[in-house]
Amino acid sequence: MNAMRAAAPGGLLQLAELPMPEPTGGQVLVKVSACGVCRTDLHLVDGELTACRYPVTPGHEIVGRLESGRRVGVPWLGWTCGECDYCRSGRENLCAEARFTGCHLDGGYAEYVVADERYCLPIPERYSDAQAAPLLCAGLIGYRCYARCEGAQAIGLYGFGAAAHILAQVARADGRTVFAFTREKDIEGQRFALACGAHWAGDSTQAPPEPLDAAIVFAPLGSLVVGALKAVKKGGRVVCGGIHMSDIPSFPYSLLWGERRIESVANLTRADGERFMQIAATLALRIAVTEYPLEEANRALADLRAGRLEGAAVLSAVASSRPPSGRA
Ligand SMILES: [Zn+2]
Ligand SMILES: [Zn+2]
Repeated sequence: MNAMRAAAPGGLLQLAELPMPEPTGGQVLVKVSACGVCRTDLHLVDGELTACRYPVTPGHEIVGRLESGRRVGVPWLGWTCGECDYCRSGRENLCAEARFTGCHLDGGYAEYVVADERYCLPIPERYSDAQAAPLLCAGLIGYRCYARCEGAQAIGLYGFGAAAHILAQVARADGRTVFAFTREKDIEGQRFALACGAHWAGDSTQAPPEPLDAAIVFAPLGSLVVGALKAVKKGGRVVCGGIHMSDIPSFPYSLLWGERRIESVANLTRADGERFMQIAATLALRIAVTEYPLEEANRALADLRAGRLEGAAVLSAVASSRPPSGRA
């Protein structure tokens, strides 16, 4: 079977022909029909994630089918020990032994993948394979960040890519007011944010028209954390949703004063996945995807890096990514 592999940190992915993966205890074989391209994959290709093993097949937003025909989603969290304090207290996302799909375990930039069935997620029927793929990380991590903003009415989203375009719709449906921050002068991106339900959209260097209750930083730029801190009111919080970020510049304590806080969201739990898929099933989320054939994974990553995408990039096995008839 074919896979796009990262041989070592740095450089491009290479098309490789690999033996068919064989499921072992508790695993299932999944025929991949779509796999989302996440910013984490860029960090992995660039060698910014020190825990990853190489060579590896990236990809952790996998939608595919089991031999029985059942559709499943394979997310980032691929396995946990089940025994440590974190695992036993509902925080398996922090398990030190956790194995992540497309990082420690071969992922979905391939025709087939094996996955531990206990970590697979159901996919709401209303979404096609390609539309569903970004739900598995962009959607899920966005949702975990959002859950940290409980009680916040005015929410800022810094970096308006795959995660923010889904979360803006979820938050809006929930009655929140969304402020979208994009790269400077990204008029197209700002128009897209407004179309996704944002109340206001502007440059990330701009102040929002009103103080925010909370901000979520999706873009991997440490300077945005300081900008977001300036934009939130007393008692507000800034949640960092990415796995890697450039250094956060130093800032005066007065920005943090007033019980503002900065925190990160790391990975996801299965409970997050189940909850978010239930929410996605009740909402008609419009998932903007640009599809690429598997062999063009490098082009998809380059477009993501350059900010050329509206929504999410998805690698597709062409034959099986049609939307179910009558649904969008
Ligand atoms: Zn991801
Ligand atoms: Zn554990």
